[in-house]
Amino acid sequence: MHRILFLQPVRKTSVRSSCRRIGVAVAVLCAAVILQGRVATANFDVHGTSSTRAEAIVRHAEQVRERAFETLLGASAPSPWTVRCEIHLHATEESFAEAVGGPPDGARGATAIEFAEAGICVRRIDLMDDDPAAVPDALAHELVHVILADHFTTAPPPRWADEGLAVLFDDEAKQAGHARDFAAARRAGMTWSASHLLAMEEYPREPHRQRVFYGQSAALVRWLIDQRGAATLLSFLDDAAAIGEGAALERHYGFSTVAALERAWLSQPAETDIGVD
Ligand SMILES: [Zn+2]
Repeated sequence: MHRILFLQPVRKTSVRSSCRRIGVAVAVLCAAVILQGRVATANFDVHGTSSTRAEAIVRHAEQVRERAFETLLGASAPSPWTVRCEIHLHATEESFAEAVGGPPDGARGATAIEFAEAGICVRRIDLMDDDPAAVPDALAHELVHVILADHFTTAPPPRWADEGLAVLFDDEAKQAGHARDFAAARRAGMTWSASHLLAMEEYPREPHRQRVFYGQSAALVRWLIDQRGAATLLSFLDDAAAIGEGAALERHYGFSTVAALERAWLSQPAETDIGVD
């Protein structure tokens, strides 16, 4: 069994997000039932808020789950999870930090997945929930990590792809913040080469570099999807793990090297290649 955890730190004074992966999940809405202070549906089990608010959150989560399964994995009617995704809401940073084991300051979300021989045995998302008028802002992003874990069962996807795909489910303001971070880094010559980005196994330590990482990863993911769709991107990621990145790149995108991919990608102006859909 192993455990994966992703954190999504966001400065409270900013709409920008910088999600650090240390993990990944979600499902279909059935009638919500209240069980011992929590609200559960077929795929979610929400803890830490009123039943009325929990019901609104699980409805949203079920919608995001369906959209993400269809958009990213081509599954228009995903089967319910046999292991529900727990969503734990935290009104304070102290409660959140205690639950996830001491995240960086300003974290907004974290996801943990545990695998057993029979498959995923734990899906858990912890979210800051300090705006009672809104669905927690990190929910959709964290759900994408969880859903991708259903596909990448033998090994997690590369960090750039995992985070880049999750960012595409952030709200427009967050995505715009990531795009600005990447555009500024390009102007300053502070981006990573594509070969470096694709090989990164750890998140940058410095918060400002984390933001560039998310912005650059999202921009590359968006560009690849614009070229040949999400299904091809997922096939590329699968094949890269099986036959190597170079062969997979040639097979699915027709580039002989990562450098050729980078030239094609960055030949576009920053304003158009990182724009928010
Ligand atoms: Zn993330």
